Amino acid sequence: ESRHQVLIIGGGTAGITTAARLTRSGKKLDIAVIEPSDKHFYQPLWTLVGAGIVPKEITVRKEASVMPKGVTWIRDAVVEIDPDANQVRTAGGRTIGYDYLVVAPGIQYDWDAVKGLRETLGKNGVVTNYTYEAAPKTWEAMKNFEGGTAVFTNPLGQVKCGGAPQKVMYLADDYWRRSGVRGKTKMIGAFAGTVMLGVPEINKSLERIVRQRDIEMRFYHNLVEVRTSPQKEAVFDVRDPKTGETTHQEVIPFDFLHATPPMKAPDFVAESPLAVPEGPHKGYVDVDIYTLQHKRYPNVFSLGDAAALPTAKTGAAVRKQAPKLVKNLLAVMEGKPAEAKYNGYSSCPIVTARGRVLLGEFLYDNKYKPTFVFLDQTKERWDMWLLKRYVLPPLYWYGMLKGLA
Ligand code: FAD
Repeated sequence: ESRHQVLIIGGGTAGITTAARLTRSGKKLDIAVIEPSDKHFYQPLWTLVGAGIVPKEITVRKEASVMPKGVTWIRDAVVEIDPDANQVRTAGGRTIGYDYLVVAPGIQYDWDAVKGLRETLGKNGVVTNYTYEAAPKTWEAMKNFEGGTAVFTNPLGQVKCGGAPQKVMYLADDYWRRSGVRGKTKMIGAFAGTVMLGVPEINKSLERIVRQRDIEMRFYHNLVEVRTSPQKEAVFDVRDPKTGETTHQEVIPFDFLHATPPMKAPDFVAESPLAVPEGPHKGYVDVDIYTLQHKRYPNVFSLGDAAALPTAKTGAAVRKQAPKLVKNLLAVMEGKPAEAKYNGYSSCPIVTARGRVLLGEFLYDNKYKPTFVFLDQTKERWDMWLLKRYVLPPLYWYGMLKGLA
């Protein structure tokens, strides 16, 4: 049985960024990352893969190539956390102990929450940008689309990158205008939420954009079933705006359907004593939203999609969380209190067309917080497109994952 001073669950964006920052801290630490996959993905580019703008291959690297030097990679998956015994159990049957634990296994797709979706994905005009394998099929379906009804969904609850379900909608509209089928196409955004995006300044811009593009928005619509025979139909539970109760179902026949799967915390997190027991963040890791330290187990921290934080789950948020978490973890190791505070920063580059991006940035409580104060970030911009397409990917691989940016 092995034991490590710092054990990190997950070698994705959050896990690797944290490991890299810890190795750069100047302290001699024994760090291990548990990660089952031999691949590491830069998921933000999947939106552009789905629009045929970049090939999927540029979004993946070998996990070994992003693992910081001196960090032990345990290629296994955690199945149980026992924070009272300071140990985890893995699928491979190992028990691994720790002094300090960082929980960063991301979020889980709940495909089964939508009847019929898993079986038909990638066929019958039903697509998603939310996986590496599926994203190229979005482009195939977009390219081959000959007109009809195109539906874009956005589920109840938190999803990673809250803007991604609508980026694909704008990119499809843009492409179909160029390919000449937009005139024979009805586009519908059927979203479970109540607005385009929670930040009022950005919401206003997005409302204008959907109006200008002739995209019909239906809110309070939660996808529950996809039927493909005898007809292609998407079935939605529709809530009453006043009571929040589901009052009826609506069936929308479609020719193209981009589905964003409902998401939830990984099972082994939700079933552990580390999870939030109730409420909108149920199942996610119950940390202080500023210090990222667990509320009941002071030697446990969490960040990224798995942490219960009332802000958008993005890589951009991880970039601001990791430095604070590492500072607090090192302080706690020295017997000092965790005082560094994450302010809820998250950001979403909303691609509104090929060559145009509206860069939304905000803090806790949906407080709008643009970086480039001398530019108007509530507008779609070419410079923000360049940032998304050409600046952020290398910043990720060579800055963030190296613990430098
Ligand atoms: P991940 O990076 O997903 O990593 C989790 C890791 O944990 C994985 O490697 C997984 O294999 C591992 N793991 C899972 N289960 C276990 C287990 N049981 N034991 C051990 N390890 C486990 N973010 C932005 O900032 N900007 C964007 O424009 C943007 N667009 C996006 C578009 C799409 C289509 C998608 C899918 C995501 C997008 N994101 C964007 C979100 C961003 O990718 C995530 O928020 C970010 O990757 C979260 O980091 P994480 O480490 O928490 O999770």
